[in-house]
Amino acid sequence: MRYDDERRVAVDAVIRASQLCRAVRAGELSGASIEKQDKSPVTVADFGTQAVISLALQQAYPNDPVMAEERLSDLPSLLRDKVLQHVAIILPGLGNGEVLAAIDRCDYNESGKERAWILDPVDGTKGFLRGDQYAIALALIENGEVVLGILGCPNLPLDIKQPEGPRGCLFIAVKGEGAVMRLMDDPLEQEIAVSDVTDPERASFCESYESTHSSHSDSARIAQILNVVVPPIRIDSQCKYGIVARGDASIYLRLPSKPGYEEKIWDHAAGWLIVKEAGGTVTDSLGRPLDFSTGRLLSKNKGIVASNGMIHSAVLSAIREVLGSM
Ligand code: AMP
Ligand code: MG
Repeated sequence: MRYDDERRVAVDAVIRASQLCRAVRAGELSGASIEKQDKSPVTVADFGTQAVISLALQQAYPNDPVMAEERLSDLPSLLRDKVLQHVAIILPGLGNGEVLAAIDRCDYNESGKERAWILDPVDGTKGFLRGDQYAIALALIENGEVVLGILGCPNLPLDIKQPEGPRGCLFIAVKGEGAVMRLMDDPLEQEIAVSDVTDPERASFCESYESTHSSHSDSARIAQILNVVVPPIRIDSQCKYGIVARGDASIYLRLPSKPGYEEKIWDHAAGWLIVKEAGGTVTDSLGRPLDFSTGRLLSKNKGIVASNGMIHSAVLSAIREVLGSM
């Protein structure tokens, strides 16, 4: 299979990072997070994950650049020791300088040239802090095209209808080779596919838990036009791409809640490939393909719509009805 080595290295790194995230969640959370300048929260888990994955990629592919969300300059001394302690549990024997340098080296800004790794160490940090959903999102991009996508969802139930059942899913997709899901602690992989719903009335949709990330009022109007009867599944992070890819929901709506907001590449690269490889369609809210060649921001796109493909054009026309041409 293509990208076999990269897939193995990346899956292993995401599993280790998931262990770190679970350990941070299980411990004392007070004092484990701060607010960044843009007012968004960042935690010991975000920096710890970035270190663990950067170190794994550096060892396997020393020449590959990495673009990740966090900056070492945002890591206050208050959190630094906790980050180092958590990383040492997962990867013992490293010097502090080595770990901090690994966080620092993820400052690549290009996505349209050669190959690069794109990492959101903890997507949905607010969900992580609430004890809800979050994801570790890692993608490999070549000349602006996503070729490998992995989502670690440490708190996502295997079956959304059985929240008491096993939790901790990993979604994996390689371009042209379909998408699979496995449990975090069991290597058995199962192929996944989007839902076969063809009638929008029978569709269910998911959206951000946070109404500041996606307009809940616009999505409610769109659901009404489509005659969707079930209430939306509101969860944080790219777990939404995972649940569309495995058919738990048929639509993921991410509608601009703030004029001028540009989506971050690390919030979509891995999830995009997983839904596409599971048979679905992902565009922006105007129906344009996502352009991943523009660096840190998806500056050529507005909002996101993912679906099982079959109902995509119905969703786009309902969006046009509600939002006009934006
Ligand atoms: P979600 O958990 O799907 O709501 O998405 C979490 C991501 O939303 C974070 O990683 C941020 O990068 C991103 N985000 C922050 N502000 C906004 C905004 N105004 N609109 C859309 N996404 C945002
Ligand atoms: Mg994110």
